[in-house]
Amino acid sequence: MHPIELQSTDATDARAGTLPVIENCDDCGACCMTVGTPPFVLDEERDEARERGVSLPLRAEIQARRRELDATGRRDAPCLWFDPETLRCRHHEMRPQVCRDYTIGDWHCRFARRREGIDGA
Ligand code: SF4
Ligand code: SF4
Repeated sequence: MHPIELQSTDATDARAGTLPVIENCDDCGACCMTVGTPPFVLDEERDEARERGVSLPLRAEIQARRRELDATGRRDAPCLWFDPETLRCRHHEMRPQVCRDYTIGDWHCRFARRREGIDGA
């Protein structure tokens, strides 16, 4: 499952499909630009961030950011852990499962890259 539910249409599929095939995430980060906070599972049964060893201060930071985004009604901010200088995840080793499951070059990847104007948008 992708962190963001995207609506597929024939038109968006076709546009995303025009992007070149890529082999790595260098200089991209498009899929991190609209999740707001690291998309860890957090419900009554599971605290994925804790399971992954994310420290208490970092978890508090995530919660504070979620509250901030909720208050403003924003849902499309860059991920708190995304570093705009390096275009990389600042805590890659602790990233959520949904980020690990993201498949480079699949439809979601191509859609995100096109949305962010990376490679052939
Ligand atoms: S959008 Fe695709 S290429 Fe870009 S960082 Fe995400 S998985 Fe990698
Ligand atoms: S946790 Fe890391 S890999 Fe996942 S969306 Fe945020 S910056 Fe991207």
